[in-house]
Amino acid sequence: MNSRAILATLIVFHVSLFCMESQSDLTLADFTPLITRHQIADRVKKLGQEIDTYYCQHSPLPLVILAIMNGATLITADLMRAIELPIELQHMQASSYGENGTEAGQLTLFGLDRLKLEGKHVLLVDDIFDTGVTITRIKTELLKKNPASLKSLVLLHKVGKSKVEEKPDFVGFPIADQFVIGYGLDYKELYRGLPDIWVKK
Ligand code: 5GP
Ligand code: MG
Repeated sequence: MNSRAILATLIVFHVSLFCMESQSDLTLADFTPLITRHQIADRVKKLGQEIDTYYCQHSPLPLVILAIMNGATLITADLMRAIELPIELQHMQASSYGENGTEAGQLTLFGLDRLKLEGKHVLLVDDIFDTGVTITRIKTELLKKNPASLKSLVLLHKVGKSKVEEKPDFVGFPIADQFVIGYGLDYKELYRGLPDIWVKK
């Protein structure tokens, strides 16, 4: 085979690999709407009231909202506007999904070092409680920082999948065991900005 033929074969090989990869990637056409932006807005408003009531009765201020990025971006922004109590915002990052995009991989936590939680009432906010492993691990690390109290709020709770004793204290919506995207939740880091929540068909 001359060098031109080898080059042509290599190009065909790479193009076919690229096509196979894009075929296995999901697009929005593989999802269907599950929870609308209006349902989310109504629920977040009520969650804000629940939190105001709970912390007025149970704890002196201030309250720290600890957002687990990137999934909690949109729920945090909306929740902060639904809570009337004065709140402080801090954030950290948890990353668990592998390259495949729909199955959990190794859990890594970032940004724990710069959190200032000693003596404060902390409400950790995450996108979804699936097996519960992420929130349990985060809570274990946060408790080492001696907060006055530590509660959790999740937008979605995949009921019945828990591998831990821990339960979220505040839940937006219980859902079945299906893969969801939108309103903060990603597929391979995409679709977090969708205003509604979509479920894989
Ligand atoms: P857990 O540790 O509770 O099993 O998983 C929690 C993390 O897995 C979530 O914070 C989220 O990043 C990811 N996750 C779990 N289920 C889903 C899902 O259906 N869709 C997306 N986009 N992420 C999910
Ligand atoms: Mg997450």
